[in-house]
Amino acid sequence: MQYPEPIAKLIDSYMKLPGIGEKSATRLAFFTIDMEEEDVKNFSQSLLAAKRDLRYCSVCGNITENDPCIICADKGRDQSKIIVVEQPKDVMSLERMREYHGLYHVLHGVLSPMEGKGPEDINIASLLRRLQHNSAVSEVIIATNATPEGEATAMYISRLIRPADIKVTRLAHGLAVGSDIEYADEMTLFKAIEGRQEI
Ligand SMILES: [Zn+2]
Repeated sequence: MQYPEPIAKLIDSYMKLPGIGEKSATRLAFFTIDMEEEDVKNFSQSLLAAKRDLRYCSVCGNITENDPCIICADKGRDQSKIIVVEQPKDVMSLERMREYHGLYHVLHGVLSPMEGKGPEDINIASLLRRLQHNSAVSEVIIATNATPEGEATAMYISRLIRPADIKVTRLAHGLAVGSDIEYADEMTLFKAIEGRQEI
């Protein structure tokens, strides 16, 4: 038996989400049908608003409502340090720690020859431009994840930046190999930043 089209479409939509297979999507679709209409309306409006009202900061690449983002626009932050991360989620994790008051740069990925991702596919050029136009930066802290791709990306970026006479450091490995910044607790992140080493 085929599902009625509205349900089939809803299942298809849920299956576009990461980690959601057909079984979970079906469960979510039927759950949605049982929800109060008001809740479904709010849910759909949140989806649209998130897509419509958010953009990427033209300076750092982080997700933001206003461009530049509140971190880039805040002149009270330490302008001498930039932490380079893979994803906007990593900025959130580091900000939750409340110990770092410098700036960020979001790569939106890592170098991955396996997936055909080269330097032009992630936000490296904008980082270099930023460093050229901002002489206040004295240290770039590379906080890509402790995966082979994260390590390779860190080395690649450090080779590009080092001639500019800017210190390049890497987070200490309080983070387990293969682990993501996103899931690290605040204490681990704090120690990883405290113990960062020049590369
Ligand atoms: Zn920004």
